[in-house]
Amino acid sequence: MILIMFGPPGAGKGTQAKRLEEERGLKQLSTGDMLRAAVAEGTELGLRAKEIMDRGDLVPDDVMIALIGERIEAPDCRKGFILDGFPRTRAQAEGLDAMLSGKGRAVDHVIELMVDESALFERISTRASESGPDAQRADDTAEVLQKRLTVYREQTAPVLPYYEARGLLRRVDGMADIETVAAVIAGVIDEKTRAAGT
Ligand code: AMP
Repeated sequence: MILIMFGPPGAGKGTQAKRLEEERGLKQLSTGDMLRAAVAEGTELGLRAKEIMDRGDLVPDDVMIALIGERIEAPDCRKGFILDGFPRTRAQAEGLDAMLSGKGRAVDHVIELMVDESALFERISTRASESGPDAQRADDTAEVLQKRLTVYREQTAPVLPYYEARGLLRRVDGMADIETVAAVIAGVIDEKTRAAGT
């Protein structure tokens, strides 16, 4: 099963993806985490990505498509995976489809977590205050969040119609508590699985 968690920064994509990883054995692939690991290791990718991430912009599509393309080849992705933070542009969505169709696979579900923007500022400041000094994200500030939201509205949200047109998109109220959101997502996945008779 291939699932995409969609939504603005702070919507709860990572939290829900982690739960699905534990409950369903699907691998969580967070491109943000992958990039932060590259930054911490000081790799060529990390050096290139750091400045872009710190200002809240997007790392170029070709870099991201290659990164995900390589990652999904790993054995731990065979059963399925959850994309958390990818695709973030139409070009990434098309690149993903091209990669998957080459392997006879396809995206099964796209879950959009819908949240109020005002709540995002609160959530991000809570995340920043709860992170220890080592886990503190340079981009979890009000200023950079503003930029990340603009990027989300202008470059990422326009990907939604691409999936909606194919009947893959399900909108979920991300303002509810974690348990409720998780239950709704589980229902969406199970309903589609039953409908497909698999
Ligand atoms: P995230 O942890 O998903 O909020 O991502 C943190 C930052 O990593 C983003 O603000 C971008 O700079 C970069 N990033 C993560 N995923 C992508 C992606 N799919 N495309 C481009 N940039 C990304």
